[in-house]
Amino acid sequence: MRAWAVGTPGPIDGGPLVAVERPVPEPGPGQVRVRVRVCGVCRTDLHLAEGDLSPRRPGVVPGHEVIGTVDRRGPDCTLVDEGDRVGIPWLARTCGTCRFCRSGAENLCTDPRFTGWDVDGGYAQFALVDEAFAYRLPDGLDDVDAAPLLCAGIIGYRALQRAELPPGGRLGIYGFGGSAHLTAQVAMARGATVHVMTRSAEARALALDLGAASVQGASDPPPEPLDAAILFAPVGTLVPPALEALERGGTLAVAGIHLSDIPVLDYQRHLFEERTLRSVTANTRRDGREFLAVAADIGIRVSAVPYPLDRADRALADLAHDRVDGAAVLVVGGG
Ligand SMILES: [Zn+2]
Ligand SMILES: [Zn+2]
Repeated sequence: MRAWAVGTPGPIDGGPLVAVERPVPEPGPGQVRVRVRVCGVCRTDLHLAEGDLSPRRPGVVPGHEVIGTVDRRGPDCTLVDEGDRVGIPWLARTCGTCRFCRSGAENLCTDPRFTGWDVDGGYAQFALVDEAFAYRLPDGLDDVDAAPLLCAGIIGYRALQRAELPPGGRLGIYGFGGSAHLTAQVAMARGATVHVMTRSAEARALALDLGAASVQGASDPPPEPLDAAILFAPVGTLVPPALEALERGGTLAVAGIHLSDIPVLDYQRHLFEERTLRSVTANTRRDGREFLAVAADIGIRVSAVPYPLDRADRALADLAHDRVDGAAVLVVGGG
């Protein structure tokens, strides 16, 4: 099969991603093989190719927003059938036995595996997945639109849950990229009033188009106090103004894996009156299932930019240089 692998990680223009021929993989116990139809391109793939994220396996095939059709089942599979359309997400496997897995917090598993990092992902014609970690996809979502939901969408949904927005509440969104614009749509469908803080004029226009009540600069105060806020921009200096914008009792959830340093907080201004600051780490399968159902239900709008599989290197370079207007998606083949 045709695939792409991370060769020697380095700057994207030096060609760290190499086109390879690999044998079509055979599914082991509890695994199914997926004939890949599309695979979304995530910024994490770029971090991996460029070496910001150290490779855990030489020659790994990136890609963790995979949509395809099951074409072979390994031994002991009971959950999905040949011919089913499934999604393969970032969370490839959890240990199932640590205290977090046993208590329903598998996002905090102490020994997780990730698709396109620990195990080969979807920049390829075929990929394997543990059937228990594959998502069934609602019919209302087409392949190209569904791919970006599998990573950006699910993590944004978890951040929204962690922000504990009350019904009909006022939500502030700081930073408005791939994940935020999906999360905003879910919040608005639930009746929230959404205020967006971002420096990008294009992002402000998109926010208004999707129904945001107001838009302003990255650290500007919103026009009313916020019951909850989500920080999507990886910018620690936005934490104090976001906390200050909260209503008493409000919660700020930080959605990113990385955040630059948070400045010194002032207890009275930023935390007193029971304001809460919390992080968001990965997601559970339950988050993923809930979000995909909601996304189909509300007819979520995704702006996807298709590339053929042969141009995966180009797609990553375009992402690196901010030349993609939307979410890049590799189109691998028909079903
Ligand atoms: Zn991702
Ligand atoms: Zn675990």
